[in-house]
Amino acid sequence: MIEIDGSAGEGGGQILRSALSLAMCTGQPVRVTAIRARRSRPGLMRQHLACVQAAQAICDATVEGAQAGSCAVSFAPGAVRGGEYRFAIGTAGSCLLLLQTLLPPLLLATEPSRLLLSGGTHNPMAPPYHFVERAFAPLLRRLGAGIELKIHRHGFFPAGGGEIEVAVWPPAALLPFDLTERGALREAFGEALVAAVPRQVARRELDALARAFGWSEAQLQIPSLRANEGPGNAVLATFACEHVTELFTGFGEKAVSAERVAGEVVAQARAWLASGAALGPQLADQIALPLALAVVASGRAASFTCSEVTPHARSNFAVIERFLPIDCRIEAQGAAQLVSLLPG
Ligand code: ATP
Repeated sequence: MIEIDGSAGEGGGQILRSALSLAMCTGQPVRVTAIRARRSRPGLMRQHLACVQAAQAICDATVEGAQAGSCAVSFAPGAVRGGEYRFAIGTAGSCLLLLQTLLPPLLLATEPSRLLLSGGTHNPMAPPYHFVERAFAPLLRRLGAGIELKIHRHGFFPAGGGEIEVAVWPPAALLPFDLTERGALREAFGEALVAAVPRQVARRELDALARAFGWSEAQLQIPSLRANEGPGNAVLATFACEHVTELFTGFGEKAVSAERVAGEVVAQARAWLASGAALGPQLADQIALPLALAVVASGRAASFTCSEVTPHARSNFAVIERFLPIDCRIEAQGAAQLVSLLPG
């Protein structure tokens, strides 16, 4: 049984999600204690519990401690079964964080899967749907996996009510990659999503992006959203480069001006643009686990550059190293960081 201290490093929900994924991928039982100990409300919140329960469902795991508020969970996985699954978070908790937990084991399953997930699709502090679809999924395809995503309904905090559908085709073998250059910028554009929020807010957000990046009207969109509950507002800036697509998001909040919300996005994007790195901080954090699985499967090293290795990512890398014979090395490379995943 692998023991993981949930209070280590950044001490948030990621430690639990990565531990569940890796337990399923490796067949090793895990006990996670002090879950989310560094958060103001520690223990399993509804969305973390949903991850434990969904993980249990796809591999018939034996689980202890799966209750709301629980600070320790034991999880002994069985064999992962692909197939058709429907999971509802039950609150506005992020569908994409649930997907993040389930994807790695489903990539290693012997059969394809189709998931219907309901909850939040554009939550602060979680990967928004469009980030997963445009930035993360293409990197999984580069590992050899088949993945297609559709959004049926947008769901914002606090109302939730979003729904996504994800189809996964496991590859014969995961293949590692090196991604150290982003390549030339091919396309860049901004979108402002609004649900039960005045269109004028979206307009002001896009104007702020246009001023910051010198974008023309053709690069600005206010998409019409499918039947969703509001209020909700997210601003997205997408940069499609030759080798990678990055996407930065800001979330509207009561009493925060449209210009400030867009300003958050501009700051994130500028930091990545200035670094010259292939990946931004979130994409680097999230690709590490699937990429590490590919390194172990092939016995070949992988690497990427990123604008920043956050404390969140370092905690995640530490969990990966507990389960897999992998050495994660981080070194400065100009204004960027070079992360190498070496077979141990
Ligand atoms: P808590 O820490 O309260 O337990 P949590 O379970 O939501 O919260 P975190 O540990 O904070 O989890 O992890 C959040 C995840 O969401 C990380 O994978 C992070 O990379 C990702 N993420 C957060 N914001 C963004 C964003 N704007 N774009 C892409 N990914 C994001």
